[in-house]
Amino acid sequence: MKKQSKYQIAKFALELPVYHLFDYLIEASDEEAQAGQRYLLPFISRFKVGLLIEKNTTSKIDPEKLRFVTKKLDQQPQLSSHLQQLAAWMAEYYLQAIGEVYFQCLPRLLRKKSSKLPDNRIKIWQVKEINQPDRLKLRNKSLKQHEVLQIIEQSPTGLSQEVIRKIFPACQTQIKALEKKQLIKEIIIDRFDVTNVKPDLYQLQDEQQQVYQNISKTDGQFCVHILQGITGSGKTEVYFHLIKDQIRQNKQVIYLVPEIGLTPQLIKRTSRAFGDLALISHSGLSDIQRYKAWDQFRLGLKPVLLGTRSSVFSETKNLGLIIIDEEHDSSFRQQDGIRYHARDVAIKRAQLLKIPILLGTATPSLESLNNVNKLHYRLHHLNQRQGGGQTPIIQILDISKSYLQAGLAAELIEQIRQQLKQGNQVLIYLNRRGFAPVVHCHECGWMASCQQCDAKMTLHQSVNQLICHHCGSRSQLFARCPSCNSGDIKHYGIGTEQLELSLSELFEGVDIIRIDRDTIKNKNDFETRLQQIQSGKAAIIIGTQMIAKGHDYANITLVAVLESDQALYSGQYRASERLAQTILQVSGRAGRANKVGKAIVQTRFADHPLMLSITTQDYSDIAQQILLERKQFAFPPYSRVVIFRADATELEKAINKLDEIKKVLQQINSGDRTNGNSGKISILGPVPAIMSKRIGRYRAQLSLISNDFSALRSLLKMALPEIVKLKISKQLKWQVDVDPFDL
Ligand SMILES: [Zn+2]
Ligand SMILES: [Zn+2]
Repeated sequence: MKKQSKYQIAKFALELPVYHLFDYLIEASDEEAQAGQRYLLPFISRFKVGLLIEKNTTSKIDPEKLRFVTKKLDQQPQLSSHLQQLAAWMAEYYLQAIGEVYFQCLPRLLRKKSSKLPDNRIKIWQVKEINQPDRLKLRNKSLKQHEVLQIIEQSPTGLSQEVIRKIFPACQTQIKALEKKQLIKEIIIDRFDVTNVKPDLYQLQDEQQQVYQNISKTDGQFCVHILQGITGSGKTEVYFHLIKDQIRQNKQVIYLVPEIGLTPQLIKRTSRAFGDLALISHSGLSDIQRYKAWDQFRLGLKPVLLGTRSSVFSETKNLGLIIIDEEHDSSFRQQDGIRYHARDVAIKRAQLLKIPILLGTATPSLESLNNVNKLHYRLHHLNQRQGGGQTPIIQILDISKSYLQAGLAAELIEQIRQQLKQGNQVLIYLNRRGFAPVVHCHECGWMASCQQCDAKMTLHQSVNQLICHHCGSRSQLFARCPSCNSGDIKHYGIGTEQLELSLSELFEGVDIIRIDRDTIKNKNDFETRLQQIQSGKAAIIIGTQMIAKGHDYANITLVAVLESDQALYSGQYRASERLAQTILQVSGRAGRANKVGKAIVQTRFADHPLMLSITTQDYSDIAQQILLERKQFAFPPYSRVVIFRADATELEKAINKLDEIKKVLQQINSGDRTNGNSGKISILGPVPAIMSKRIGRYRAQLSLISNDFSALRSLLKMALPEIVKLKISKQLKWQVDVDPFDL
């Protein structure tokens, strides 16, 4: 039957963990078939959504055996050719399942079969005419209504209720009242006239102006800019001015921040500056809201998209600039599912589109600095703090011989006391939540560890439980040792929960604000605490990494960093880079506005070279020093790494699996050697992963290291199809990780 009907062969991407596309038949008469359109396809005994990648092609399979598509779901492509190109590059570069990569670029609503798509028109409030006497009357009678009126008035475009709520959370009553008084009206628009928008921005200072001009010069061409600006130097203002220019040229901007950086403060600031021109994409959006935002940006209805990692795949109409704030942040690296680095994908995207990309941070990643050294990226500096305020002094406090009270040395306690007495705030950074990280038997040495993971259970006294921070499993506290039945159970070490308790005894009557994942359950919790801090009252703020970046705390004059020593002798090659970044980021919180700040780092290894160099506060120097070390040991960025990971219910199974993969790799590698490609690639392992047991499964890894990335790539390209064919591949899960964050 097929032979008589006219057909063509087409290749489709399906959201499945496989490395190939699927062949189907479409009617030859379907002339409007275009790559990027979705089709409903018969798949085994059900239906799946497939994305057309290539039509009029050939198949290795006999066409008699191919199936016809069921129906076309889109009249227009949902994925532009540009994003298709980016996805194809990603699948190849990161060695990820091709269909999954393509589908990652689509909003969830489009990955499903349902075809009902929501209305996308924009409704905004605008201010009608208002004369001076009426305005005064409003201000005198209802201050809140007047404030909402002003927010709408100052916006460059008028504002939707959604955006007003971001600036003024409980705005509904005010809006209703203003409408009733006929002071505002709601209109529906198709698009904004952006050429005349005048966002309300601060004027740039000399140093900022210089950087802004230098970056502007590369408009319309591919260029990677690194903006290394100390905390408080006003990087965001530079971003905003660059965004404004893009808007006026009718171009779009993708502005990425780390998960932790998308704070109410930044959302408010962006909403105030750009009103409805800025879309804000965050994990709290429903599938429908997300689709709406995606579609509005794709159609070019809104020029700015502020979002986290996955916003890098947003479809655009006329992208002019990509900005990545805190580019060194690890949350840009997706660690499970499809493994990729949003920064590197964004750079590739900018290159494909021939547009500039700006990476901003106080502490650039070593990869980026290495690219500056090689003259691939352009480096700009911002060294002055805005609104006065000096860079804080960093003191390394040797506690190797000190008695600690609540985890703090006497000298630190004294300094905290002095600052509080002067009405200032103190921030204590301790990146460990819970009460105590170790619970053990004093009699026999037994330790409470997780049944599921190679990890200790953390004591959480507030809920009277032991909790594993890796898998979340909980158990009751033991009254007696399960091993020797002794009642002498002790805990050791200090977490934020215990620190809060001890400090409240040490500094009676002082407000203590704790910010960690146990006290912050949602956005409101976070906002309430930030407001508490911003009120400026003398207080101690305890925080994990949640507090390290992106917030303004004008009244903090002293920052203390506790328990940083672990990183000095960690087996992870990135540990010292991260420690230096964290200390500088956290200490940057001290002494903004007009107050001098100080940071104290407690350590038992005060003469460790890294500790010594941190006091100079020159991140560039510290980074070049760590880079030298990396070069010596041929670690990234001086080599490239690809890791195969496997996990199983028994360690042996995972190791065996990787041994099979290793054999394939070695075979191809030695074959290649005869072609003169000798000894460029080291294959190490398989070995158990650092935390081998996790959530009940054993994990192992096999590492490939080489300073010749193209040799590594060609090996993998040849090996992967063979690896996929291995019988054991069907029995056991494995993943491949290109440029992994940790080795
Ligand atoms: Zn015991
Ligand atoms: Zn666990």
